[in-house]
Amino acid sequence: MSATRSLVPGGEVSQGGGNGQPAVRPAPVHPIDLPRIEHAVREILLAVGEDPNREGLCKTPHRVARSYAELMAGLNEDPRRHLRTVFQERYDEVVLLRDIEFHSLCEHHLLPFTGHVHLAYLPDGKVVGLSKLARMVEGFARRPQVQERLTMQIADALWEELAPLGAACVIEAVHTCMTIRGAKKPGSVMVTSALRGVFKKNPSSRAEVLALIAAHPISKL
Ligand SMILES: [Zn+2]
Repeated sequence: MSATRSLVPGGEVSQGGGNGQPAVRPAPVHPIDLPRIEHAVREILLAVGEDPNREGLCKTPHRVARSYAELMAGLNEDPRRHLRTVFQERYDEVVLLRDIEFHSLCEHHLLPFTGHVHLAYLPDGKVVGLSKLARMVEGFARRPQVQERLTMQIADALWEELAPLGAACVIEAVHTCMTIRGAKKPGSVMVTSALRGVFKKNPSSRAEVLALIAAHPISKL
């Protein structure tokens, strides 16, 4: 994965535009088609032999459609936009935000995977509000995802939008497609990391940021 350029499934092409042009174009907006989801859910109920008209199920397609719209709301936004409100600060030590809870959907099974994101950057003049970092995570999580890509998207967004000296993202998550079906391994936690800049190249910087991330018991999965 290049440290300076990424192509993000879903439409966001990142890379400085130059000539005063915006660096990133917004993801295309596809309004979520609720009636279509409702129809599909009704079909699933029929396919498993249920009666979608019985009292307990008659409003289920409607509820599921609204749930999916919420869980996939990130498809209709460019999460990087949250990193464009920056302020100049001569702070030159690591900024770390740990234990950002997230909920995403595994794109292979459309089952939830949930956990915590820990992210860090070493500013080079630009810093960003903590709530913006959390909103950026939310935008990338709320879509069909794989954990590996989510990790890289967050690291690349920090790296390319804030132009820091280093950027890091570590994610710990439990995948319900692993715990409630298939291999049925409850308690298994997947950990992924993506490092950019000095955190990737410089062993002591890498050790420092990973130690900061691991400094306290983290998981409350
Ligand atoms: Zn899965």
